[in-house]
This record gives sequence, C-alpha cells and structure tokens, in this order.
Amino acid sequence: MHEMSLAEGVLQLVEETARRENARRVKLVVLEIGTLSSVEPDAIRFCFEAVTHGSIAQGAALEIVAAQGAGWCMPCAATVPMTEIYGACPQCGSYQVQPTSGTEMRVKEIEIE
Ligand SMILES: [Zn+2]
Repeated sequence: MHEMSLAEGVLQLVEETARRENARRVKLVVLEIGTLSSVEPDAIRFCFEAVTHGSIAQGAALEIVAAQGAGWCMPCAATVPMTEIYGACPQCGSYQVQPTSGTEMRVKEIEIE
C-alpha cells in the first residue's frame, strides 16, 4: 500500500522532531494532503495509527487538511484551480493543464510536549 510508506515517512519526520526537541510525547500531527495527490485520507489515518504504535507518536491526534489543487493552463496562460489530476481547465476546457500544486502530501505541523 502506497499510504503505508507515506505514513512511515511521516513517522520518521515526527520522531526526528521529537528527538531534537526532547519531547516526551507527540500530541498532534497535522498533514496537508493535496487534492491532486491521490492519497486517501482514510487510508493514511489507518496507516498512521499502525506505524505509530509503540513509537513516541503513539496516541497522537492526526489532523488532515486538504490543499487545493492548481495547475498551469497553456491555452489560458493562467493558473487555474484543479480538482482532479487529469482534469480539464475549468475556464477553457483544455486538457493541457500542468499540475503545479496540490500534488503532494506534507507534514504541516507537529505538536509535542
Ligand atoms: Zn484553460
């Protein structure tokens, strides 16, 4: 599962941060998931719980925020909002749209104590 390796990457980042800050526990992890990233929030939630089990991040709350996708439309020569990765331009209907944001998942915030 694609989400499992993503969750492991998140845990690694969280553990590094916790170690650096001498944290006792991790309270909250905020993930930003782009609407064009094809990452399933439910799957990532499940995987996060699985990989954090027994780690310093065990029991940490996971908050998921969606990042709006956007792309560069060639015919319009403009940045347009996108809701799906191979979607058409909402302005001209062209498929010559290059995704520019919303294609990734990233850790936005880590709360420790
Ligand atoms: Zn267009």
